[in-house]
Amino acid sequence: MSVNILFAAHKDRWAQYETPLRRALDAIGIDYALSTDMEPGGVDYIVYAPNSDVQDFTPYKRLKAVLNLWAGVESAVKNPTLTVPFARMVDDEGLTQGMVEWVVGHTLRHHLGMDAHIVNPDCEWAAKAPPIAADRPVGLLGLGALGTACGQALSDLGFPVSGWARTPKSIDGITAYHGKDGLQSVLETSQILILLLPSTPETENTINAETLALMPKGAILINPGRGTLIEDAALLAALDNGRIGHATLDVFRTEPLPADDPYWTHPNVTVTPHVASETRPPSAARVIAENIRRGEAGEPFLHLVDRDAGY
Ligand code: NAP
Repeated sequence: MSVNILFAAHKDRWAQYETPLRRALDAIGIDYALSTDMEPGGVDYIVYAPNSDVQDFTPYKRLKAVLNLWAGVESAVKNPTLTVPFARMVDDEGLTQGMVEWVVGHTLRHHLGMDAHIVNPDCEWAAKAPPIAADRPVGLLGLGALGTACGQALSDLGFPVSGWARTPKSIDGITAYHGKDGLQSVLETSQILILLLPSTPETENTINAETLALMPKGAILINPGRGTLIEDAALLAALDNGRIGHATLDVFRTEPLPADDPYWTHPNVTVTPHVASETRPPSAARVIAENIRRGEAGEPFLHLVDRDAGY
């Protein structure tokens, strides 16, 4: 019997995903139908993005799993009609690689002090070499698929890397902490702090007046995680009083960031428009197809969301 797969993402995405998905599904050798329009009662799998028109999963009586195209699941995880196994996207070759490149690039910008020479209208000859990576401790809040890969890349460059997760971990190249004391250890030592936590009720405002006060004076904050991780008024105050030297922010509570938001004009803030990384269709399609193969073979799905934890 044919496996019926509904593609339910923003309509612009179908053109990008149809061919890679067909190629990946052909490669796993199942008999399937793939479409953006199917009778709900016959659908086996939904390839999903939370901004799609499908918000009520109750008519999908035969559904075996919902396979998310995004890493972030904060909106879908709250959907009470989504009760079947729900997998998030872990796309090592595309999404993760893109995030590693973005994080390493922005870390090196601050580590090397590149701005001073890229924009130098007064022709200042400030001949002061930056420290080497070994003298620049870097911290990562979040040691999941993205945080671990970024931390290991920074460690490979020579940075001393510490990281914080919800559960204890042992990761090559990263000194891993958990718990409240663990957070304090990471914050106290990190000259550059990168946020790669998911947005959950527990992670909201992880960066607040109290935690910012623990950081070394002039530390750099880089946030490609989620806007909710930061209490914005506290960060702006820390930027104004010099506790934080610069913040590079890719994600915000409201996106697009409103034109009158103070982040746009703050001299020590770089705003990037949620471009740190995205799922790439060829590699993401292979991840989706592998999960469908597993579902059909009765094997456990990869990358399942823990609804209680919210990520
Ligand atoms: P992930 O694999 O689920 O990892 C999440 C990490 O956060 C895990 O290490 C987890 O700890 C930790 N964590 C969760 N709740 C915590 C808490 N209360 N206290 C301490 N640590 C906590 O997620 P990912 O794939 O790395 O993605 C991370 C986030 O990046 C996504 O949720 C999304 O918001 C964001 N993202 C942004 C972009 C962009 O373009 N800006 C692109 C993709 C993703 P455990 O390991 O102990 O579970």
